[in-house]
Amino acid sequence: MQKLTRRVFLAGGAAAAAVVASQWGRSGRAIAQTRTAQAGGVVNLYSSRHYDTDDALYQGFAEATGIRVNLVEAEADQLIERIKSEGNNSPADILMTVDAGRLWRAEQEDIFQPISSATLDAAIPENLRHPNGLWYGLTQRARVIMYHKDRVNPADLSTYEDLVDPKWRGKILTRSSSNIYSQSLTGALLHHLGAEATEEWARGLVANFARQPEGGDTPQIQAVAAGVGDLAISNTYYLLRLLNSENPEERAVASQIGIFFPNQRDRGTHVNISGAGVLKTAPNAEAGVQFLEYLASPAAQSIFAAGNYEYPVIEGATIDPSLAAFGTFTADSLSAQIFGRNNAEALQIMDRAGWR
Ligand code: FE
Repeated sequence: MQKLTRRVFLAGGAAAAAVVASQWGRSGRAIAQTRTAQAGGVVNLYSSRHYDTDDALYQGFAEATGIRVNLVEAEADQLIERIKSEGNNSPADILMTVDAGRLWRAEQEDIFQPISSATLDAAIPENLRHPNGLWYGLTQRARVIMYHKDRVNPADLSTYEDLVDPKWRGKILTRSSSNIYSQSLTGALLHHLGAEATEEWARGLVANFARQPEGGDTPQIQAVAAGVGDLAISNTYYLLRLLNSENPEERAVASQIGIFFPNQRDRGTHVNISGAGVLKTAPNAEAGVQFLEYLASPAAQSIFAAGNYEYPVIEGATIDPSLAAFGTFTADSLSAQIFGRNNAEALQIMDRAGWR
């Protein structure tokens, strides 16, 4: 009986593995080969980040340490599922993803191990890493208000809270409540304002929507340029991508849009992170820690953040000049763990408020 159960389990496991293999196919690739297999170790990175500049960094890490980086790229939720289904046999050492809400989900799935690294603790501010070393923020992104330069006077903008003012009726564009960025912003407000005021805010925001939410941040910016509304809530890098695009139409869209950093007179602008943690089942945990330490070094930080027009997490790293041109701002220092933790309640609030 036991044997049969085990065989069924194994067969199921094998079938599942076959599906995984065909589904993932060529997505796994070795970024940097060391000269010889014995020259160093390996770190297996599962990542939902995918910028060309990241590859150069992984190459740099291999050259500096002799540790080869194997990269598997996919959406964050798929990667978490894959790590869970691989269980103790998972080759993955690091999960890298964007948004603290997703790092929180991974944390809830209990796939990270706590690591202690004096290097990481010294380099990365406390609010941008997990208190027990389960994950570390590696870049920061600000979620700002973008406005049409001809139709909005930035002097009329102030805070996220002010977006519910009737003067913005029919003018606001943002993505849906199913999106993690919307959830994390609402989760941060939930911490600052409390549940009742956050629900009131969400209702007011929905009342001011220019249309039912659709698409990512880029379509919101494009809709502002097209006159569908006047304001978009968006992460800064989406505008920077348009601004630096090779496509003149995209540059023309970006030229009409300004960036406003909300809440500069109080708690600061909502920032989120991309980040990574070492997995509980990591076969090469030590190499994984070394890899994170490398990504938190000043040289790597400058390249890693600039790859997606983001802000570094450490002092002294450079910022892409086109991003720097939008000026400095005060960031909300709320721990990224808080809006992860508030995610479920934030989602309920948005749902009740009719944010689709
Ligand atoms: Fe994004």
